[in-house]
Amino acid sequence: MNYSRFITAVSAARKASPIRLLTELMQRSPPSLISLAGGAPNPNTFPFKAASIIVEDGTTVEIGEESMKRALQYSGTAGIPELLLWLKDLQKSLHNPPTTDRRPEEGQMEICVTTGSQQGLCKVFEMLINPGDTVLLDAPSYPGTLAALRPLGCNIISVPSDQHGIIPKGLKEILSRWSPEGTRKLNSNLPKFLYTIPNGSNPTGTSLTADRKKEIYQLARQYDFLIIEDDPYYFLQFSKPWAPTFLSMDVDGRVLRTDSFSKILSSGLRIGFLTGPKPLVDRVILHIQVSTMHASTFTQLMIYQLLQQWGQKGFFDHVDRVVEFYRTQRDVMLTAADKWLKGLANWHSPAAGMFLWIKIKGISDTQHLIMEKALEKEGFQRLAELIKEAI
Ligand code: PLP
Repeated sequence: MNYSRFITAVSAARKASPIRLLTELMQRSPPSLISLAGGAPNPNTFPFKAASIIVEDGTTVEIGEESMKRALQYSGTAGIPELLLWLKDLQKSLHNPPTTDRRPEEGQMEICVTTGSQQGLCKVFEMLINPGDTVLLDAPSYPGTLAALRPLGCNIISVPSDQHGIIPKGLKEILSRWSPEGTRKLNSNLPKFLYTIPNGSNPTGTSLTADRKKEIYQLARQYDFLIIEDDPYYFLQFSKPWAPTFLSMDVDGRVLRTDSFSKILSSGLRIGFLTGPKPLVDRVILHIQVSTMHASTFTQLMIYQLLQQWGQKGFFDHVDRVVEFYRTQRDVMLTAADKWLKGLANWHSPAAGMFLWIKIKGISDTQHLIMEKALEKEGFQRLAELIKEAI
């Protein structure tokens, strides 16, 4: 694939910082280089010496004095090498991406650690969108995505969906405005990408079926758009085998996938990871280089050490426990909805995630009902006023 047709002039103009490249060389083990150029502070002057973090199974994650020096220091933008390796192995065993062994320019699978998946998403949008570009969105969608997309001035087309996610027929109808054979140059404003939350979508709780994903991927090939697979609820699927992902079908190298540890390890540690074709992931890395530089080294080391102690099996055992917790929560919520809202509202039992989308019969917009009537009844008038002012 020729990726240059997707990226903005700003993204194309980004160049690697020589100082950051030196930081990457310095983190090789054993260290072969000490750079005097980068403003790296001497970690012996830092007040933190060691850390011991107790894990729920009674084991500990130990960050001894030598590791602590590294944990408190700058590190490479893509992520610390050992965590990257662990994540690459995880992606290979979960998704077996067809692009794994390609040459870099052919869209070889690449990974970078992000400060939560939100950072990956935001940087991906900024890499791809020029004002006036068209993008396709699985609607209604996650407010964090809308807030990142809207200021970029793109033309957002909502794709119809039901409890099984995007309806391919609806997507096909939207795309019929363009010619499937035309190149991007001949087809003015051909959508650049489709954004979707394929499992336990925020806020609708829907999950895309494997058959629909296959149809959608074929449409992406026909109309030459990228797919942004934002999947923080992937690990919270209630039944096995887990659904095949767009990444697992990606023979062309047109899928950018954002994963998150927020829902299973911690949301406050802010660790996510972006997987996709190397030419695009490299552009995102260049953007992170000049913004946050890298995700916290301490956090990455702490997470890596836990994952390494657990191994993939221990990680999946933990995921199973988290899934059981949310399955119980879902069932309690469904029982309550059944008890209080039967006949008044419609909903579907979610196959993954944390969201139950309730549609009240006969009310198309529940804003007034929730923000005014419900909050006032609870004596939250002041709060209701503040919320009204804010929106
Ligand atoms: N994408 C979706 C669909 C989400 O629901 C969230 C958070 O709730 C995010 C991305 C951001 O997650 P993270 O904590 O990994 O930045």
